[in-house]
Amino acid sequence: MKNCKLCGNTLTKPVFVLPNTPNAQGFVAQRIRSAGNLEIFECPCCHLVQLACKPVNYYKEVIRSTNVSKEMRTLRLKQFKQFFKKYKCKKTIEIGCGTGDYLEILTKVNNDSFGLEAGKKSINVCKDKDLKVFEGYLDKENSKIQKAPYDSFIMMNFLEHFPHPLTALKAIYNNLSVNAYGIIEVPNFEETIKESNFLDFVPDHLLYFTKDTLALMLGLAGFEVIKIDSVFHEYILQAEVKKRSNHSYTAFNAEVLKNKKQIKDLLKKIPNRELAIWGAGHQSLTLMSVAGLDDKKIKYVIDSAPFKQNKLTPATFIPIVSPLYFKQNLPKAVLVIAGGYNSEIVQQIKKYNLKIKVFSFDKGILKNEK
Ligand SMILES: [Zn+2]
Repeated sequence: MKNCKLCGNTLTKPVFVLPNTPNAQGFVAQRIRSAGNLEIFECPCCHLVQLACKPVNYYKEVIRSTNVSKEMRTLRLKQFKQFFKKYKCKKTIEIGCGTGDYLEILTKVNNDSFGLEAGKKSINVCKDKDLKVFEGYLDKENSKIQKAPYDSFIMMNFLEHFPHPLTALKAIYNNLSVNAYGIIEVPNFEETIKESNFLDFVPDHLLYFTKDTLALMLGLAGFEVIKIDSVFHEYILQAEVKKRSNHSYTAFNAEVLKNKKQIKDLLKKIPNRELAIWGAGHQSLTLMSVAGLDDKKIKYVIDSAPFKQNKLTPATFIPIVSPLYFKQNLPKAVLVIAGGYNSEIVQQIKKYNLKIKVFSFDKGILKNEK
């Protein structure tokens, strides 16, 4: 069974078949069979366009023509200068640096630049150029890159060669420092499909990205996508990303204590079983539980939903009654805990013209309504 390299969904029928397609680096010395039919799939779920065949045997190596064109060189120099100025990154690594064409430019812009490459010959070429290169390939999420963590990375036209692209991206993520930035470039499939340019399909490229599928993959790998542009005569999609960090949860504990204290202070002012709570929604149920309330402290809980009435609140076991019961068996005070419905309920209680105190509680704030 063939599975999508992004979402894992089953790939069934190819959307296009290109016969007798040669590898980009499959040059031969004699007339031996060196090509096969190329089946292109589009995932019915995430819509990533991809090949499901085995990768070419040199898929771990980056092979670029040794002399980058003048136009490309100028573009890279400008791009790298802007990147380092914008994000103020220090130590950087190029994932898949090949013979160091871009790493040379990168090192000129930022001296603390390194490269990662699997091809031994390419590594030697880099070393001859005095570039700092490590041998390696990212085939496990926990693959370690020497000298990690890095403040930034670039990966130019390499992601589309990976049989396990998410694994590679997660491995990069794990070798970065907090708030690291990166540039990832891939061939632009949006242009291929617009021009029906079937010549872009090649066994070397296992993945064909649109802006949407690239953003989806980068997001799933843990990156925040800052922007994706189409560059170099629309041939390349260029993504700028930031390593996403977890939200901070330290404030939650302080908020638990603050909420408990406010309910405790309110109960000091109102005798036991003379406070009722309006609302048996999730916020109210949790607050009652966190504050350690029970049917000895709270008279009852009012809720308009008939299916909750005549039952007990979960965890705190306080009887739930109807608004009608409330009007006939008044407490000395009522506390409304109903999230976004608070003001509507407070208005409704005020219309009853009752001689009781009304409080509300929302987003950690206890309010005296009357
Ligand atoms: Zn998919």
